[in-house]
Amino acid sequence: MSEKFDVIVVGAGLGGLSAAATLAKNGQKILLLEKHYRAGGYAGSFVRGRFEFDIALHQISGLNLVSKRGFLYRNFENLGITKRVDFVRLPNVYRSVFPDLDVTLPAGRENAEGVLVDTFPNESEGITRFLDRVEATGQALTLLQRGATSEEEKRKIKEDFFAYKDKTLAEVLNADVKDPKARAVIAQIFAYFGLPPSKVSYLIYALGWGDYLRCGGAQIRGTSQMLSSAFVDIVQEMDCDVRFNCGVKKILTEGGRVTGAITEKDEKIKSDYIISNVNPITTCAEMIGVDKVPSSFFQSLQTKEIAIGSVCVYMGLDLPQEELGIEDFEIFLNTGYDFESFWDKLKKSIEPADFGLANYNAAYQDASPPGTSIVVLTTTSYAEPWYKIPPSEYVETKNKVADIMLTKTEKTFPGLRDHIEVIEVSTPLTNIRYTGNPGGALYGWPYSPKETLMNRLPQEGPLKGLYFAGAWTQIGGGFQPCIMSGMMAAQKVMFEIIKNEKVK
Ligand SMILES: Cc1cc2nc3c(=O)[nH]c(=O)nc-3n(C[C@H](O)[C@H](O)[C@H](O)COP(=O)(O)OP(=O)(O)OC[C@H]3O[C@@H](n4cnc5c(N)ncnc54)[C@H](O)[C@@H]3O)c2cc1C
Repeated sequence: MSEKFDVIVVGAGLGGLSAAATLAKNGQKILLLEKHYRAGGYAGSFVRGRFEFDIALHQISGLNLVSKRGFLYRNFENLGITKRVDFVRLPNVYRSVFPDLDVTLPAGRENAEGVLVDTFPNESEGITRFLDRVEATGQALTLLQRGATSEEEKRKIKEDFFAYKDKTLAEVLNADVKDPKARAVIAQIFAYFGLPPSKVSYLIYALGWGDYLRCGGAQIRGTSQMLSSAFVDIVQEMDCDVRFNCGVKKILTEGGRVTGAITEKDEKIKSDYIISNVNPITTCAEMIGVDKVPSSFFQSLQTKEIAIGSVCVYMGLDLPQEELGIEDFEIFLNTGYDFESFWDKLKKSIEPADFGLANYNAAYQDASPPGTSIVVLTTTSYAEPWYKIPPSEYVETKNKVADIMLTKTEKTFPGLRDHIEVIEVSTPLTNIRYTGNPGGALYGWPYSPKETLMNRLPQEGPLKGLYFAGAWTQIGGGFQPCIMSGMMAAQKVMFEIIKNEKVK
């Protein structure tokens, strides 16, 4: 006889984990099925030699560890995450290094504004205007989340939020700030959102960058695996079932609604509700079957562009952070101020774009064994040019790319290479292998205005009982958005379950 669960969650990436934990806490009998041997998808770690590397996390937003705590932190408190995970506030948002400029942007509006205005005194008015705008957009989102209670609040939501829904970062920033150098420093973390300033949504940039700027981003002591494993513990403590090495092969349907799943081990499991944390393309095309999904829905997926992937060079170094000569956590090494022209080449070439250097021991000292340190170089890279590399040349090619990035790094930090004890290089193909995300995408669809926040795919799938969670759905990719997408999927499923119980 096949087992039956209230809800099956497919995939233990952040979206699946937060959906499963939220439902488990609400008394639902959950089965969480994960293909890999560990939880987290991108939000996890791997070990090489004596080093444990965070696969992805540079900064998590939404926590606000200094004052009244952010939206995500309060949700974590409710779930019991904050008792289990040690979040570490990052004092600086980032350091931007250019051939003729080196600026560190500290967290805190006043501090950051002070540095920007000191560095670009001729732009002081424009900088303040842009920072005010970003702050107003963040406040409007808070009003939107809790619901406007007055005409004044409704006006703010309209003017400070919805008025920007079709705008790119460049359209808004360039109107306020004229100096290309100042623009570049402000737009520096465009790569976090996977599109250059002329294409990335102003709203997503303002909310993400604004949050880091206002509150400071956070790291997780012991890697983001700690967060993912904490979600698993919560699900298991609620007497729910989590199975690793247990991918889903098929999602079963009958009369336009889901009825269960078949695992890779050929177990048939029944449920009226499935939350898929697997990208919607694979969910629909391979797990459900194109013939069972409304053709308009499937076609809409096919016409969308897929977001960029990454190349990471993970290094365990044989000297402590103090001797490394790198004090900051997140440093962007730029060869110039033009973030646009290189981007266009990325679809055709594996030549690495400018990149960021994350120095984990600066975030928390015990990120690696005593006397050592961990440094990770990260750049954006599309999968397409990597598909063209013959398998026999793949390792050599990715090592060559890593070598180019190391050579550039050594212009600012000479001698780094001499201290490499272990090195590992990932590409978009690595991302595909470990998460199944098409293109090795970090954030599902790219964060253009067309694919931002409520413009993204909703949690409700094309069949009754089918829901999505994760980077490909509202509210998007990244730690905070994916965790919130899982919570939103869980709320929607709970609503349906309660509604159906009332009908019975
Ligand atoms: C290098 C890098 C750096 C990043 N840096 C940051 C950062 O600093 N800050 C930030 O906010 N975000 C960052 N991100 C983005 C963020 O990590 C992702 O957007 C987010 O973790 C994606 O979560 P997800 O819920 O979409 O699940 P995913 O991570 O995509 O996981 C999907 C899960 O589903 C599983 N799965 C797939 N197929 C099946 C199947 N058939 N059956 C069962 N399970 C299946 C996979 O094994 C995987 O565990 C970064 C990403 C990368 C790669």
